[in-house]
Amino acid sequence: MNDYKKLVDDTLFFIAQKGWTINESSFYDSLAMFLSENLEMAYVLIDRISDKEGNVETITFVDSGVVKTNISYPLLNTPCENVVGKSLCVYTSNVQMLFPEDDMLAQMKAESYIGIPLWDSKGQAIGLIALLDTKPITNASEIETILQIVAVRVAHEIERNNFEQALIAKNKALERQNKELEQFTYIASHDLQEPLRTLTSINQLFQDEYKGRLDERGNTYLKFINESANRMQKLVKGLLDYSKIGKLGDLIEIDCNEVLREVLLDISLSIKENNAKIIIEDLPIVKGYRTELRQLFQNLIVNAMKFIDKDTAPEIDISAKELDQEWLFSIKDNGIGIDQKDKEKIFVIFKRLHNRNNYEGTGIGLSNCKKIAELHGGNIWVNSKLFEGSTFYFTITKTKNL
Ligand code: ADP
Repeated sequence: MNDYKKLVDDTLFFIAQKGWTINESSFYDSLAMFLSENLEMAYVLIDRISDKEGNVETITFVDSGVVKTNISYPLLNTPCENVVGKSLCVYTSNVQMLFPEDDMLAQMKAESYIGIPLWDSKGQAIGLIALLDTKPITNASEIETILQIVAVRVAHEIERNNFEQALIAKNKALERQNKELEQFTYIASHDLQEPLRTLTSINQLFQDEYKGRLDERGNTYLKFINESANRMQKLVKGLLDYSKIGKLGDLIEIDCNEVLREVLLDISLSIKENNAKIIIEDLPIVKGYRTELRQLFQNLIVNAMKFIDKDTAPEIDISAKELDQEWLFSIKDNGIGIDQKDKEKIFVIFKRLHNRNNYEGTGIGLSNCKKIAELHGGNIWVNSKLFEGSTFYFTITKTKNL
């Protein structure tokens, strides 16, 4: 260590550069190697607290210029016990004599020790950096300064990694819960169909057998039961379809022009009845799930024809625009429009803005659309003003592996 100023500069340069592009372990490993070489210390350990029982684990462990397998060890009766959550400690010589119960010191033939605690941004102890050598330390104050410089950077790195790991664990838990919820929705809606079928057929039998024997009130009650059972069947079927999205079919190249032709053919009767004018611009070929994409277009077109004043003929424009990472589709209508405050709500399952007597429906269509757009790595939203028509947008990724 002949040029102390150069060492400080090198250290600052090291911690400023490393860790941006490389992965977690190589930052710690290369830092430990750097410290070992430049401070001439045989052992460098960067440790994080592994549990509340007073154990630590190494994130990196350099022994005579070699990165060793990580270990964990108890702090009790070691010099590190005086460092973690406390303060910088220096034992320039005779460290084994001071800590006779520390076997690791004996194995390392350690003579000297210097350790600095690591704190997170909330002031909680998260670990330490410990340097040991088989010779006494003669330049303790220089080593202290270098350790003080690197400790802050290492602590931030550990804290960031801890957050990252917590986030990954949370994401995994969320994914699992989502899967369970989907499974539950599927099973519940599937199993509900059976008693519903029985209910409607018994109701039908009852109506046939007791025809003419019921008074007007009895017939009205039966009619209500029938209507409710039918509606329940629609809801349950909708829920079942919702839970099936993305489960069947392959990811393939799809010509959206072709899909639209099929959709228009399927709903041609309704287009005719509503006297609807649908203009479709040239659409792209995308990678996606055919049945789902078809359903997405169909839902949006059917809604555009449905949510309109009775004496207005629907005019619907469908187009697509290529963006950097995705395709942006738009479906513009001249319907009743949507209030600003309801723009998010409408994509929630079973949410409807209108009375069933005015506009028939289950409130599942747009939540299907949302799920389908997300299945294609995209999103869906609406731009609209009440009474001024709506434009629904959805995106389909071009890059993501679905
Ligand atoms: P449903 O069509 O069965 O009611 P959706 O999930 O498709 O269910 O739509 C949810 C609600 O969003 C509708 O009830 C309606 O209030 C509103 N909505 C959907 N599409 C349009 C549209 N093109 N114009 C105006 N309102 C719409």
